[in-house]
Amino acid sequence: MSYPFLQLRLHPSCIVRPRTAHDVSTAISILESCNSTKFAIKGGGHNANAGYNNIQDGVTIDMQSMKYVEVARGDAVVRVGAGALWQDVYDEAETRNLTVLGGRIGVVGTAGFLTGGGISFFSPERGWACDGVVNFEVVLASGKIVSANATSHSDLFAALKGGQNNFGVVTRFDLKAFPANPIWGGRIIFGPKATTPLLSAFTELKTGTFDPYVAGWVTVLYNHTSATFNPVSIMWYTKPELKPGALKGITEVQPQIKNGMIQAPISEHTRNASRQVAANPGRTIWATTTFTISPTIVHRIHALWKDLVPEISKQYAYANPVAELTFQALPGPPRNGSSPNSLGFGQNETPEKNLVFLQIVFTFEDAAATDGFEEALKDLVKLIEGLVKEEGVFHKYKYLNFGASFQDPLGSYGEKSLMALKNVAKKYDPAGVFQTQVPGGFKLFKR
Ligand SMILES: Cc1cc2nc3c(=O)[nH]c(=O)nc-3n(C[C@H](O)[C@H](O)[C@H](O)COP(=O)(O)OP(=O)(O)OC[C@H]3O[C@@H](n4cnc5c(N)ncnc54)[C@H](O)[C@@H]3O)c2cc1C
Repeated sequence: MSYPFLQLRLHPSCIVRPRTAHDVSTAISILESCNSTKFAIKGGGHNANAGYNNIQDGVTIDMQSMKYVEVARGDAVVRVGAGALWQDVYDEAETRNLTVLGGRIGVVGTAGFLTGGGISFFSPERGWACDGVVNFEVVLASGKIVSANATSHSDLFAALKGGQNNFGVVTRFDLKAFPANPIWGGRIIFGPKATTPLLSAFTELKTGTFDPYVAGWVTVLYNHTSATFNPVSIMWYTKPELKPGALKGITEVQPQIKNGMIQAPISEHTRNASRQVAANPGRTIWATTTFTISPTIVHRIHALWKDLVPEISKQYAYANPVAELTFQALPGPPRNGSSPNSLGFGQNETPEKNLVFLQIVFTFEDAAATDGFEEALKDLVKLIEGLVKEEGVFHKYKYLNFGASFQDPLGSYGEKSLMALKNVAKKYDPAGVFQTQVPGGFKLFKR
């Protein structure tokens, strides 16, 4: 089994590689009948929390043999096996000049991504990638295979858009397709002196007039071994005929060391991005938090982080740590009568305009440093949230796909959404198989 981060490489006593939904159904029926056996479900294996997509001494259901991507001729839907990676999807869909709402790095899996929300190139304009799913094929705890969509099992349909592995094993996603066109974007590596101007440009982008074609993120990296802070932007403009639009400010920041902005098909952008992340597998831990944009908050968070990470990293210098702070926009909720998701944003909220979430990341080489970095991550989140609260811009939402195991993304959706998710879990999994036999993941009832 392949996992991008070393801490995910556990040793299950049995690995199941289903090829069909019926194989999954057989596996779940057997596992359900011996209820002391714990199991894990692995999509693309890119969630960084150890034990979420693999299990020590239990059974791992690895979806990797269900990688099929089918585009029916003349169809507006792409059918994706739950083991497919985003690169598989874009490569196949583009043969029919189609694309979908999906990941921006090709090596990432579809299943965890879509059941946790999913931020795509088109999210500012079209919302969460999970809202591009028109049907989930799911194997329930009973072994029954059902279709969840707007007209059949619609409660389960909503729950799977944000509730991840609490209800069953998704075996296929049917994704709404739309015409594929080249987009403009890529990575710009800036010189260290560009950090403040880059964060100012990001702040202006978020406080200025909303441009629905700007996607991506800005990151500051701290490499302890070289004692350098390096700002980077990975951003795209999805309507290249209008470029650079509101991306202008970011692309004009200087000094630039390498400018990789190109106009290309999405599959080429996702392949390039995969090359940039796959180079060096380490132990990666992450956490997230969300705030409302203000003219000062991005700089203040960065200043706090910049003061603390050299000191934290120094304590574990033997592990060659790299720290990352990433700022990124959130998508908006489904509107105009579309089927709901479970992420908790109301029709009238505009997270795509006002909200920014952080990814706070440490990557290191030596397992001995794990506990230390986990404690440091918790402290950093606490300090950053304290600062954000002091400025009055804290927002409770935690994006599940970048949540740490000590965080509570499902609770952050709000009481109403949480209750609905719990009711769906009780209805479709009355014995609580996915609560107790699947210990990994953000759980609804182990709270
Ligand atoms: C390099 C990188 C780039 C990323 N880029 C983006 C991005 O552009 N946008 C974004 O929104 N997020 C992004 N993410 C975060 C990403 O969404 C999560 O890591 C997500 O979990 C990846 O999906 P996966 O299938 O690889 O997950 P996995 O790690 O395989 O699974 C995650 C969780 O989902 C559950 N699960 C997996 N398969 C199934 C299934 N078939 N049925 C039910 N439950 C299942 C697992 O049990 C696990 O708890 C990125 C992450 C990385 C590491």
